Amino acid sequence: AEEQLRQAQKMEAVGQLTGGIAHDFNNLLAGIVGSLDLMQTRMAQGQTNNIERYAKAAMSSAQRAAALTHRLLAFSRRQPLDPKPVNANQLVVSMEDLLRRTIGPLHALEIVTAGDLWTTLCDPNQLESAILNLAINARDAMPDGGKLTIETANAHLDNACEAVQRDVAPGPYVAIGVTDTGTGMPPDVIARAFEPFFTTKPLGQGTGLGLSMVYGFAKQSEGHLRIYSKVGQGTTMKIYLPRYLGPTEVELPGEDVTEVPRA
Ligand code: ADP
Repeated sequence: AEEQLRQAQKMEAVGQLTGGIAHDFNNLLAGIVGSLDLMQTRMAQGQTNNIERYAKAAMSSAQRAAALTHRLLAFSRRQPLDPKPVNANQLVVSMEDLLRRTIGPLHALEIVTAGDLWTTLCDPNQLESAILNLAINARDAMPDGGKLTIETANAHLDNACEAVQRDVAPGPYVAIGVTDTGTGMPPDVIARAFEPFFTTKPLGQGTGLGLSMVYGFAKQSEGHLRIYSKVGQGTTMKIYLPRYLGPTEVELPGEDVTEVPRA
């Protein structure tokens, strides 16, 4: 029953994401239907002027709709997850050079690792690309420079937590926060930020896929993604990933792989 509930919650998250796309697609369809309708009326009236204009409008909407479904298909064809026990401290420290090159010389970078950080269970490659996505957004939010902070922490989500009330299981999580001192996000942007293809960036600069991919990764890992943001002050994006409590495989020299239980 618990697995079913989890599955239902996953589907709900997918539904929330795809709702926005269905809306855009419907708008394009409405444009096509409207143009064809006008063409029909004009032809019935024996008026052939403007027919070409309506055909062009219908074609342009149809092409945009096709581009939308293409992007949607590319989005759903993501790599499968390969979850492993992960030390998030090691992972963020190993990303230091990459992060520095990504954000450029205008910005300061600080990596803060928690002592005694719990092990988490997730796909390390996808966690790395999630952090990179968040760092790119952070950089874009600080056009005049600023500070990027990556911070790990143990986090216990209990029933008092708003996220737990919505769709997250209470329990121990490893939190990875990505904080910028940038523009911050107004409530209407926060509300739509996880939607695929939602972007406030100029044409050609944003795909609107970054946060929806990070969100999808967090949900599939049975974790959570949370936005803490103040306009004019900055934003923290926090990925919560479940604490790993299973056995750890430890390779001892000259022996077979042994399973060691962990607290
Ligand atoms: P993209 O970066 O391509 O626009 P995302 O899904 O990564 O797509 O982000 C969606 C939108 O959320 C961005 O266009 C931006 O408006 C907002 N956003 C994301 N991260 C931040 C941030 N750190 N600071 C301010 N706004 C942000």
